[in-house]
Amino acid sequence: MILEQIVRHNIRHLTPYSSARDEFKGEASVYLDANENPYQLYRMNRYPDPLQWKVKTALAAMKGVDRERIFLGVGSDEPIDNVFRVFCEPGIDNVVSIDPTYGMYGVAAEINNVEYRRVLLDESFDFTADRLLQATDRHTKLIFLCSPNNPTGNCLNRNEIIRTVRQFNGIVVLDEAYIDFSGQPSFLGELDRYPNLIVLQTLSKAWASAAVRLGMAFASADIIRIMNKVKYPYNINQLTQDYVLQMLPEKEQVKQWVDVLLREREKLKKRLSELPCIEKLYPTDANFILVKVADADAIYRFLTEKGVIVRNRNAVSLCAGCLRITVGTPEENRTLTDTLQQFQ
Ligand SMILES: *Cc1c(COP(=O)(O)O)cnc(C)c1O
Repeated sequence: MILEQIVRHNIRHLTPYSSARDEFKGEASVYLDANENPYQLYRMNRYPDPLQWKVKTALAAMKGVDRERIFLGVGSDEPIDNVFRVFCEPGIDNVVSIDPTYGMYGVAAEINNVEYRRVLLDESFDFTADRLLQATDRHTKLIFLCSPNNPTGNCLNRNEIIRTVRQFNGIVVLDEAYIDFSGQPSFLGELDRYPNLIVLQTLSKAWASAAVRLGMAFASADIIRIMNKVKYPYNINQLTQDYVLQMLPEKEQVKQWVDVLLREREKLKKRLSELPCIEKLYPTDANFILVKVADADAIYRFLTEKGVIVRNRNAVSLCAGCLRITVGTPEENRTLTDTLQQFQ
């Protein structure tokens, strides 16, 4: 893969916005270059670091990835949209994705007027590189994979992921939003080997920080440089950067949460499997369980009336009759199964 050949022509030649903080980096005593207010109440009067180097330095140490290989976005939503804007010519290019999977890839495709090609997973919610690649043509710029996958919960076959990355002449975006709950290793360790791989992670799930909106993309320094050209200059605000620097040292706490949630997941699986209204539990590597029930719409309504909200996935490909249940606290999980017990 030659990166220049797959980046959109206009982006390849784009002169990005140059902010005051791009033009002068470093320490000074008097800052009169950014039209900021020198007065302040809560230390928010200065523009934040456009490339978030402090946060990236901390993340780089934690993830074992060079900081030049990290892109930070407002949730995973931002890098998902960013790769369309970098690689896909609207109305001409297309992307390929597994189906079912996370809904944002298709929405971002539609917003960017890029054809979104779905390749149905097999009955065990897995895929093969061959079938996925058959759906590509010379206008396919991106392939989206999600492992563990949402809403199915399973990890995709690792060898097929590798074969896809090796054989595809474009970018493979591998979404690892749930990797902290998985027994499978992350692909972050494989980035050196695959210059066309972008790995997405997020603070929204295991890190208990969905409200701050921080998504991470890891890729070659060349890909990250181009993504940075296209993003809004100050996409990650100072409140978020401060918060993340406070949160990242809490790795042990996160590990404890994950341990509790994984134990709870196993208990919940056992109790659900004993309920008459549950027809099937699908294997999961994430913090949620996809279950097939007798009547998904009726059970969803019943739970909602009792104040217990799950996700109805009845209308999703291969998920007819399915509900997606997030693993909560022991009390929340007990309330769920007690309520389901009452369903006639
Ligand atoms: C929840 C989730 C995310 C997280 O999105 P954010 O924008 O980072 O909150 C990303 N990918 C998948 C597959 C998810 O399920």
